Amino acid sequence: MSLTTVAEDLERLRTTYRTGRTKTYEWRIGQLEALSRMMDEQETRFADALAGDMHRGHTESITTDLAVVRGDLKDAIKHLKKWMKPENVKMPLVLGTGAKCEVIREPLGVALIIGAWNYPIMLTLGPLIGAIAGGNCAVIKPSELPKACAVAVERSVKEYLDPDAFAVVQGGIPETTEILAQRYDYIFFTGSPPVGRIVMEAATKHLTPLTLELGGKSPAIVAADADLEVAAKRIVQGKFLNAGQTCIGVDYVMVEEAVADDLIDRLKNEIVAFYGTNPKTSQDLARIINDANFDRLVGLIGDNEVAIGGDHDREERYIGPTMLVDVPPDAEVMSEEIFGPIMPVVRVGSIPEAIEHVVEGEKPLALYVFSKDKKLQRQVMARTSSGGACINDTLTHIAIPEAPFGGVGYSGMGQYHGKYGFDTFTHAKTVLTRTTKLDPDLRYPPYEGMKATLAEKMM
Ligand code: NAD
Repeated sequence: MSLTTVAEDLERLRTTYRTGRTKTYEWRIGQLEALSRMMDEQETRFADALAGDMHRGHTESITTDLAVVRGDLKDAIKHLKKWMKPENVKMPLVLGTGAKCEVIREPLGVALIIGAWNYPIMLTLGPLIGAIAGGNCAVIKPSELPKACAVAVERSVKEYLDPDAFAVVQGGIPETTEILAQRYDYIFFTGSPPVGRIVMEAATKHLTPLTLELGGKSPAIVAADADLEVAAKRIVQGKFLNAGQTCIGVDYVMVEEAVADDLIDRLKNEIVAFYGTNPKTSQDLARIINDANFDRLVGLIGDNEVAIGGDHDREERYIGPTMLVDVPPDAEVMSEEIFGPIMPVVRVGSIPEAIEHVVEGEKPLALYVFSKDKKLQRQVMARTSSGGACINDTLTHIAIPEAPFGGVGYSGMGQYHGKYGFDTFTHAKTVLTRTTKLDPDLRYPPYEGMKATLAEKMM
């Protein structure tokens, strides 16, 4: 790919956008329905690509990458007409005579969508739903790491969507640097906080608005009164789904001392129940995306005390589901986002201590709390800030099409899914329409005497 190609793609997309055809309801619904057909007809293509790139189990692919896109698509197709309707706004009495005010959701133009590698279908096609619903054209840049998925996205977009409105461009860092040098009307980036900074800098040059979907250390907090049996299952799933390579995955666990040993035993049991005594042979355990991440993760296990797992094989980029216990607070595994199948469990004296730990760090993308006590649940929600949260569950908040998904602070800015995705990719334009039949002199100078007094009182 060369700069000329991206520039040419962009010019083609801009020309299409200027014709105005992407703004019509018919075009948008047609593209959303085509995307929906693609998700059904190419299910095997996507699932095979995910299996090839990451050893992702078929069911896991369908219930994560594909299910989230499908859920969002269904919601967008159902509500598009309503979302596109201008919203009537009540006017203040003094301004309202012979006038009406509407908020129109205006498309932005040509958007750039950059995806991360861990859910390569969901993180490219998911934001695309909002872009299409909003009436935009889009350049899509999938992550270069899951190669088969990047190709599957490119082929599918070419086969199903309007070729003059969408372009998939491939490449790693040098190519993305070139892509970012161009001007877009919106940038939607999913990836790590350090690269988010690079993308934001590039956006600054053209004052391009953007969404940053980033990561962070998402904790699971387990109170002494929690249903430990269910908590253990949901934490193990929240950690080891996609071999821990999930932006909202459980990064580490904080458990009240009184039930720590009990929880650790249950977590061990669930790991064995989910992945067997030899997880290497499990159909449901993905592999690490590349050697660099494999080496980084093995380094994070380091000298910490391993309660279960710790086994690894570089050739296969396999790391067994690993639980670390009694990890010192200054260990590397407790400072950087793990993004792999390693779960440190930290004992805390009380829930306020766990809250304090969260508050002192960067705001996470997700936070999970397990407790039956409603007051404590509310206390954790009120005192901590995170992109999203679950009480007595992990991960599932991402799968609600009508709820916003996004980070806060270091874990990102902006949201998408459902109407939030539509809003992200449109501009809320206030339009006032006034009759010329009524034209009270009160608003115009010169302001003198009674007219001045009245104008000051009423305006
Ligand atoms: P990454 O930041 O390394 O890469 C993301 C994208 O940026 C890729 O398309 C890549 O090609 C590009 N890129 C990488 N380095 C670049 C550079 N120097 N200049 C320009 N472009 C560059 O992230 P990743 O490794 O693909 O994904 C893992 C990270 O993404 C984790 O931090 C994870 O938490 C986060 N993530 C967040 C979400 C979310 O929805 N918030 C979802 C998935 C992953």
